[in-house]
Amino acid sequence: MNEIPTEPTRRGRLFVISGPSGVGKSTIVKKVLARTGATFSVSATTRRPREGERNGREYVFVTVEAFGRMIDDNALLEWADVFGNRYGTPAEPVNDAIDAGRTVVLEIDVQGGVQVARNQPEATLILIVAPNDEELRRRLTGRGTDEPEVIARRLAKAKAEIQMARDSGAYEYEVVNDSLDEAIDAVVTIIHQESEEDD
Ligand code: 5GP
Repeated sequence: MNEIPTEPTRRGRLFVISGPSGVGKSTIVKKVLARTGATFSVSATTRRPREGERNGREYVFVTVEAFGRMIDDNALLEWADVFGNRYGTPAEPVNDAIDAGRTVVLEIDVQGGVQVARNQPEATLILIVAPNDEELRRRLTGRGTDEPEVIARRLAKAKAEIQMARDSGAYEYEVVNDSLDEAIDAVVTIIHQESEEDD
């Protein structure tokens, strides 16, 4: 009996979206997922859930010990310490989705993005930035969930993070979040264009 040849599934693409806190990253990512059908990689974190966050949706919330075991087991694609908490990308769901041909989006910090670029050179990295420092400060204050010292710390970290991303050379695209709709359009266009390159 003849074997019916099956087309191998084309591997999916990996996109990393980074940018300082308060820059509107999460809003952009949510809309981009809805418009592209891409899969969001749910990170593991040792930080406490914020109000409205659900375990397994925004993050998998784990203990420091459980996070340590994930590191020891090589279960993370990358991980980083951010503001005293640990955040990491579980490798298996990402690899499975890519093997199944899906587009995967990681919303992670620049330290993590640089690790992904090193380990998966075919990944596309996108940096989201605020139009200027004043606007970034306004957005950081506007969230209303954090203490002033935390906001000050985040502003300083934001600037350092943008610099680190630029210096790394790993981020191929920079999208200014001035108009939210235009920023979303820009990221969707990047994903479509990069995906077409595989055809
Ligand atoms: P937040 O606590 O405000 O949700 O996130 C703080 C920072 O951690 C953000 O810059 C976010 O992108 C980053 N982050 C979230 N998940 C991961 C992850 O899995 N790995 C890394 N390296 N950073 C992450």
